[in-house]
Amino acid sequence: MEATDNPALRIVGGHTGLDLVNTVEPRVPGAEPEKEHLNTPEELLEWAVRTRVVEPVEAREIQLVWQGEAALAAVLAIREALYAVLLARLNEEGGPILPYQPALEQLGTRYAAAVARGSLTLPPDSPKIGRLRLGDVAAFAVQDRLAAIAVDLLTRENIEDLRQCPLDEGGCGWLFLDRSRNHSRRWCAMADCGTRVKARRLTVKRRGRQLPPN
Ligand SMILES: [Zn+2]
Repeated sequence: MEATDNPALRIVGGHTGLDLVNTVEPRVPGAEPEKEHLNTPEELLEWAVRTRVVEPVEAREIQLVWQGEAALAAVLAIREALYAVLLARLNEEGGPILPYQPALEQLGTRYAAAVARGSLTLPPDSPKIGRLRLGDVAAFAVQDRLAAIAVDLLTRENIEDLRQCPLDEGGCGWLFLDRSRNHSRRWCAMADCGTRVKARRLTVKRRGRQLPPN
């Protein structure tokens, strides 16, 4: 998905699980982010509608029945656990691998809770194939759907395509799936980090040229 109309937060991960991870800027392992986009239950719900985790009509119902702060805490736990696991997979070749077992357990527990609230149904349009529906309980819908999305990302997506906007080159550390044809996408979004880093390099170069020779 390309960057959308909201200038406050770009949606560029290519999977909602990655977009969840990318709700802090910059994404530096072990460091406090400069900007947190999910500060309140309202911000979470707004983000969930924007990323189509919930429909606008559902959001109204959720707001009436959920315990917003508890849901926010659950979602942030899912987010950080998912980030820890993805980071470990990114660093498998070369970099240090932080312990990610607790993060996997966290995700497993959250997913199990979602399944416990789920229901097995036979959809009217194809009653021969049963379907496990998760996230239908409004009070827990946001966290349960995001737990399912996190598990989907870890179990189904080709993690070979996972990239990190390069922090050591001035990028933001966000994660994204590189779906470009020749696997050459380097930045979360060329229009943002790529251009910014290039502009900065140009300024440094120009300044270098203006220095008087010694
Ligand atoms: Zn970036």
